[in-house]
Amino acid sequence: MKLTIYGVRGSVPLAGSAYAIYGGATSCYRLDIGGKQIYLDAGSGIIPASFDIAKSTYILLSHLHLDHIQGLPFFSGLTHGESRIHIYGNVGDATNYSGIQEAVNTVFGKPFWPLTIDEYPANIDWQDITVGGSFSIGGDITVATMASHHPGGSIIYRITAEGKTVVYATDFEHGSAKDEELIRFAKDCDLLIYDGQYTQEEYRKYRGYGHSTKERGLEILDACGGKQILYSHYHTTHTDEFLAQEEARMKALDARVRFAKVGDEIVL
Ligand SMILES: [Zn+2]
Ligand SMILES: [Zn+2]
Repeated sequence: MKLTIYGVRGSVPLAGSAYAIYGGATSCYRLDIGGKQIYLDAGSGIIPASFDIAKSTYILLSHLHLDHIQGLPFFSGLTHGESRIHIYGNVGDATNYSGIQEAVNTVFGKPFWPLTIDEYPANIDWQDITVGGSFSIGGDITVATMASHHPGGSIIYRITAEGKTVVYATDFEHGSAKDEELIRFAKDCDLLIYDGQYTQEEYRKYRGYGHSTKERGLEILDACGGKQILYSHYHTTHTDEFLAQEEARMKALDARVRFAKVGDEIVL
């Protein structure tokens, strides 16, 4: 399987020379496995993301915070009337919505947006997930889910195919019983994509905001026996210069560390 990195930021997209290397787009990754393209989140990174009309298309949404869905109206896959796009996710604790179809079409609907996602030419198959279970995509790809520790709820995904496993654990705050659950859930993974939003000093100020530190991610990688960690969901104040320093510091601690950069590909 191949992972392509399209969006690495938390909260809001950023532009300008200070974000040119690591990237300014919000959460989006693409996994290519056989004839399937699986997008992890639909932040602004999904806008320039490649789309192959010949492949089956899946979008796994961690949650519906804007930085994870704001690119959806500009996703090129939506413009093809012959395409079918399977969108998975849930509304977390927002039980005033019947499901993700209603919630997403509310954000992208009048008066906030001129067109709902259902009004685009593509056919959308909305799938609400019961977190804690697993499902298969086309039989050969298994997707397991776990509830994250994040305000309003978020889903952590474990995708297994071709003998390899990727865990997508963005928008996760450490320090609860969920740490141990994540260690079990991510056991022996080949790649742990982890919420590296804060430095340890910042985390002390932002406790309860739903995000983690690179150091805690490394401890979780150790405990779960994972092979590599990929930090993502960077804080809005973290410029290229700052992230390059952080990358050098963390790589000196552990060679399994990678920092997400838009445009990078990881083949597992
Ligand atoms: Zn986020
Ligand atoms: Zn969030």
